[in-house]
Amino acid sequence: MRKFLIFGMLILLTFSCKKENDKIRIFTCGIRHESNTFSTLPTTEENFNIARGEDVLKDHEWAETAEKEGIELIPSLHAYAWPGGIVERTIYDKYKKEILEDLKKAGKIDGIYLDMHGALHVEGYDDAQASFIKEVRDIAGDNVLISGSFDLHGNLSADFVKNIDILTAYRTAPHRDGAETKDRAMSLLIESLKRGLKPHIETVTIPILIPGEKGITEVEPLHSIYAQLSEVAKKEGLMDASVFVGYAWADLPRSAMRVFVVANNTKHAEIARTEAQNLAQQIWDKRAEMKLDVPSGSIDEMIALANKSEKETVFISDSGDNTTAGAQGDNPQVLAVLLKSKTKRALFAGIVDAYFLSQCVASGVGNEINSTIGGKKDKTFGFALPVKGKIEFLSPDSIMQTDRGAAVVDVEGVKLVVMKSRRSFVKKADFEEVNLNPLDYKIVVVKLGYLYPELRDLAPEHLMALTSGFCNLEMTALPFKNVDLKSYPFDVNREWNAR
Ligand SMILES: [Zn+2]
Repeated sequence: MRKFLIFGMLILLTFSCKKENDKIRIFTCGIRHESNTFSTLPTTEENFNIARGEDVLKDHEWAETAEKEGIELIPSLHAYAWPGGIVERTIYDKYKKEILEDLKKAGKIDGIYLDMHGALHVEGYDDAQASFIKEVRDIAGDNVLISGSFDLHGNLSADFVKNIDILTAYRTAPHRDGAETKDRAMSLLIESLKRGLKPHIETVTIPILIPGEKGITEVEPLHSIYAQLSEVAKKEGLMDASVFVGYAWADLPRSAMRVFVVANNTKHAEIARTEAQNLAQQIWDKRAEMKLDVPSGSIDEMIALANKSEKETVFISDSGDNTTAGAQGDNPQVLAVLLKSKTKRALFAGIVDAYFLSQCVASGVGNEINSTIGGKKDKTFGFALPVKGKIEFLSPDSIMQTDRGAAVVDVEGVKLVVMKSRRSFVKKADFEEVNLNPLDYKIVVVKLGYLYPELRDLAPEHLMALTSGFCNLEMTALPFKNVDLKSYPFDVNREWNAR
């Protein structure tokens, strides 16, 4: 009897030790992109930044959190591209295949962390995100928890959401909480796995489609609404709440504003539903108040307003050609008006024109250039503008002919930054890279919508030029066909109730 007892205790001890030593295993992956369906320029392999294996984990709060919690991470492919046109199918399929094969090889896992944007659209797919997560789920099985972090400009369909257990999004636009959001998605996943929770998500889709510039969280009405999210998340039985402003320049049925509330389990579904409806109703009731938070108007009006301003420097956004929302960035429309109006002390940052840049490099600093600029990529709204100027600066990258190559040309008193490839001036360092200080100029034109946090804090004044392009802020000016055309603001008389 005593022998059996000792044997039994040994078995029990071995079993519990193994249990303690058994690390929770989380597989991580992601394909992050904001796809502008109006853009005529597809997003290709060369636009993607890729991280694999240990490189994925470097300098990320979410990876540090997992490590502190004793989690074993199995990082697969994390792909990210700057917002642009629809993603080419061949590259997307290649990335997806790599992730799914890694997942099959990962062995027994407990959770999956998806590092996503939420507005990915791929050539030939109705809903690539939904089919991607379905394939992930089919391999992982129902017992594995999937958690994802998103940009609040994502458009997540019901098909996507039915295969995810936990989701959370940025709570700031302009975005200041990217790292924090990813960390929250990971922390909620770890907590759920440790406590054995089976989270449940309630969604309310609001029939509103607005550009991000009308969905700024630093001003009302969204400021007060976003301020409630962390409080809702603390309620009994709930773990997280998100408001997705959505991404407007995607002409797809799933493009809309949404509220998501995550409950610990289905027992708390009702409270999650009530909270989601409550937030959605507040947003709907305040829809007319979601407006641009800075003065806006035609290019002429904005230049005149800037010139009259008492502020030393005024930033003007060329909002239709906003490269941070997927536009091409080679439309010279604002430059043409600056030159015509003989505006001096202006900085145009910047325009994409690889050929013009190569002409600058061939001529050299101090020499004249007489050519046309713009309209080489965006053939829908863009055009070629004749310019004559003096080359003042060539970046080392321009001489090395890398993608970050840039030149500064003085054209009749306007400093014109010409770039080899599509990017945006979103922080002070972007100006410093081309030897410029934006505060030295009366007018600074940027190809953005809202200013990114660093510029928002730096700019003494900001105006929004309502220009044409793939990111036109006048939603009704673009040929939308597939979104809910009964949603606000397409149908301003639409009646709706969240409950
Ligand atoms: Zn965003």
